[in-house]
Amino acid sequence: SDRVPLLELEDVDAGYGETRVLHDLSLAIEEGEIVSLIGRNGAGKTTTLRSIMGIVTPTSGMIAYRGEDISHLDATATARRGLSLVPEERQIFPELTVRENLELASYGGADDVDSLSVDAALETFENLAEREGNAGSSLSGGEQQMLAIARALVAGADLILLDEPTEGLAPYIVQDVMEIIEDLNDRGITVLLIEQNVHVGLALADRNYVINQGEIVWEGTSAELEADEEVLDRYLGVT
Ligand code: ATP
Repeated sequence: SDRVPLLELEDVDAGYGETRVLHDLSLAIEEGEIVSLIGRNGAGKTTTLRSIMGIVTPTSGMIAYRGEDISHLDATATARRGLSLVPEERQIFPELTVRENLELASYGGADDVDSLSVDAALETFENLAEREGNAGSSLSGGEQQMLAIARALVAGADLILLDEPTEGLAPYIVQDVMEIIEDLNDRGITVLLIEQNVHVGLALADRNYVINQGEIVWEGTSAELEADEEVLDRYLGVT
């Protein structure tokens, strides 16, 4: 088909100073998908998300969003276009309340505002509503993750980049976060997800890319990946 993917990376090279981390990395995400990027520690997953967001600038190759080249935009400019990165460390403002954290997010976000109001976001995230006047620093790990995701909603994101959203969370909270990610997707938000926990990635994702030493080495559906013991063993150390 001639449909343009929502996001497309074509032969992207990127890294830090002299260190090249990503090598000719290509991937594509259609609007409405949940796609996971999985691979071992240091494989280049976070660097991929930073390159898409514009925190790291590719040294060659192309990143297109809705068919437009965004390779050289910074993170402020990509946020205006509707991209949002939820980083692994979540970056909640500890001294601001839950509500204030959300209010701040409503400023830095997308230009085409069909973003959710702070009140509507609080209705969606009941746990957060109960704590809207509490300081960010008082939240549990799971609540911080939910606040970080709620910020992306308030910012009006169309594509959310999630860096290990379940990292360090108790199993029953992992379940809650997975439901929230599915709920976002039901609202029409496209998700690119990094997961160290292969089982969480497989359960959520429509499609998966496996990254190894900065290169995509495998691509397929979750059912295909679950059936591919060689890939699971060789690149992911599962089985
Ligand atoms: P992890 O789960 O361990 O974060 P990852 O797949 O997300 O792994 P990246 O964080 O993208 O991997 O790191 C890829 C490589 O880039 C690693 O070798 C890492 O040491 C290096 N790297 C990451 N950040 C920087 C930085 N700011 N400066 C220099 N090198 C970096």
